[in-house]
Formats: sequence, C-alpha cells, structure tokens
Amino acid sequence: MSLLSVIVPCYNEEENIALFYAELMKTQPFFKEKEVDLELLYVDDGSADRTVSEVKKLREKDDRVHLVSFSRNFGKEAAMFAGLECAKGDYVVMMDVDLQDPPALLPEMFAHLQEGYDSVATRRVSRKGEPPVRSFFARAFYRLMKKISKTEIMDGARDYRLMTRQMVDAILSMREYNRFTKGIFGWVGFRTKWMEYENVERVKGETKWNFWKLFLYSLDGITAFSTMPLMLASIVGVFFCVIAFLMIIFIIVRKMIFGDPVSGWPSLVCIILMTSGVQFFCTGILGQYLAKTYMEVKKRPIYLVREKF
Ligand code: UDP
Ligand code: MG
Repeated sequence: MSLLSVIVPCYNEEENIALFYAELMKTQPFFKEKEVDLELLYVDDGSADRTVSEVKKLREKDDRVHLVSFSRNFGKEAAMFAGLECAKGDYVVMMDVDLQDPPALLPEMFAHLQEGYDSVATRRVSRKGEPPVRSFFARAFYRLMKKISKTEIMDGARDYRLMTRQMVDAILSMREYNRFTKGIFGWVGFRTKWMEYENVERVKGETKWNFWKLFLYSLDGITAFSTMPLMLASIVGVFFCVIAFLMIIFIIVRKMIFGDPVSGWPSLVCIILMTSGVQFFCTGILGQYLAKTYMEVKKRPIYLVREKF
C-alpha cells in the first residue's frame, strides 16, 4: 500500500470542513482500487471560528483525519509549508477547503502521475465570477513575471497540485521565509503535467483576499523570483545620466550663442521634481529588497504550532 496525503489549509472555514471531507470521500473507491491509503491533513491557520472543533468531530469518526493548528494566522503560504512538513505520504496533494479545487479531478491527476510525471498541476482557463478589474491585474502580473523572471509561473495556476515525495522533499529544502509557492513549484522543476478546468466558485464562506492583499502578494512574488527591478533602477540611472549630459552640452552651447543666463526657472523645477521622483522610486525598489533580506536573515520560524494530531 502507498499513502496519499491531502493537505488542506483552512482559515475560518467552519462551514467547509465537513463538506470538503464528504466530497473527498467520493474519490475513495478509486484509490482503494489503486491500493492507495489516504491521510487528510487540515492545517488550521489560526482560525477564530469553530474550524478546529469541526476537524476534531471528523477525527472521532475517522482517524485518517489529522490537524496542525497554528498559534495565530500565519498566512496560506505558511499553512502549505506546514502541511508539506507534516505529510507522510508517498504522494502529496494540496487543495483549498472551499471546493474551488474540485476533489473529483484527483483520480485523473493520479492517473497522470502514474504515467511517469513528477507532478500534476492545475490551472483555471476562465476567471468566471471574478471582478473584471482583478482579472485584468492578475493577467498583467503573469505577463510581467514572464518577462522579468526566469522561473516559470503559469497564468491561472492554482496551488492545487499532486506531487511525488521526491518533489515534496525538493520544496521542503527551500526554507525561505518569504514564500511564493507558485514560483517555488516552477523553480524546483521536475516533469509537470498541466490540467485545465473551468473556474468553480467557493461553496461557503468568503474569500480571504481583497485587492490590496493580492497587490502586496504580487510584490512578494516579484521580489522573491526576480531581481529585474534592481536592474531597472540601474538602467534608469544610466538613462538619466545620458540625458543630463546631453542637456549640459545643449545649455552650454545655447549660453555661448544666445547668452541668456536668467530664464529657465520652470524647466529647472520640472527637472528637480522629475529626478527626485525617480530617485525615490529607485530607493523604494532597493528598500523592498532590503526589507525582504532583513526578514530573511532573522530566520524566524515560518509557523508555530499550538496543537497537532
Ligand atoms: N487560507 C489560509 N490562510 C489565510 C487565508 C486563506 O489558510 O490566511 C486558506 C483558505 O482557508 C482556503 C485557501 O487558503 O482554503 C484559499 O483561500 P480563499 O478561498 O480565500 O482564496 P481564493 O480562492 O479566493 O483565492
Ligand atoms: Mg477560494
């Protein structure tokens, strides 16, 4: 018998715990036939509602249910990492508890894994039910990442992914504090099969993301997987030097021919404002990377456990 670990990060998802369990159990006959045991690992990301007690209720019925409960909310990235650390399976799959990652796809994903792939990943082909502004910026983010990062980050990719133990160990070897899993998956490589499906809306509860949070998350993604913005700062610097040099020649020549030393206050103000703006922008970029480096060198734990079974 081999073991499949299902990792489910949950943050205030009391209504979805049992629904998810029921839906996952529908795939049971398939895995029984393939001689695969199941281990269901709920990672409670510091929920303030009855998430933990819902998991405990399930545990009373079924001892394949496990829980890692955090001391506070550490974010989905930390929850996924904790899940990977605690999973014992030969195969590991990561899924959202809100059924936006349909468990019904699991048998097909498993079949692909047996064809010799190391991981089977999913991506949404539509963004149905999502605010148009959000879709627009999401698309722009993926286009930008494609240009500025060597790591492949697929548009519409979900964190819903089935992996072999080998790939899980590779991911666990990346112990960075600023985690951007979509990038980490691409960075470790391995043979990945992509499966596409139509977007599904969450069953119960509300999304934990708003526009601002997503925006900050995208900045995390950029700083974690590209140093291009730093390069950009240097390029802008060189560009401005060249312009400055040309302007100096122009002004000296004009002075020698026309001799007009006083006028030029408006243009001077424009230049000062423009260059100081660009300087702040470039210092800001530097600051972003410095801040990430600062958090990284502190080597704080990625998550803290309050309860575990
Ligand atoms: N989640 C988490 N910690 C958080 C936020 C979210 O563990 O701080 C979990 C959440 O319970 C869900 C998954 O991450 O299982 C995806 O969250 P959500 O559905 O809110 O995101 P969306 O699908 O809207 O991108
Ligand atoms: Mg969701």
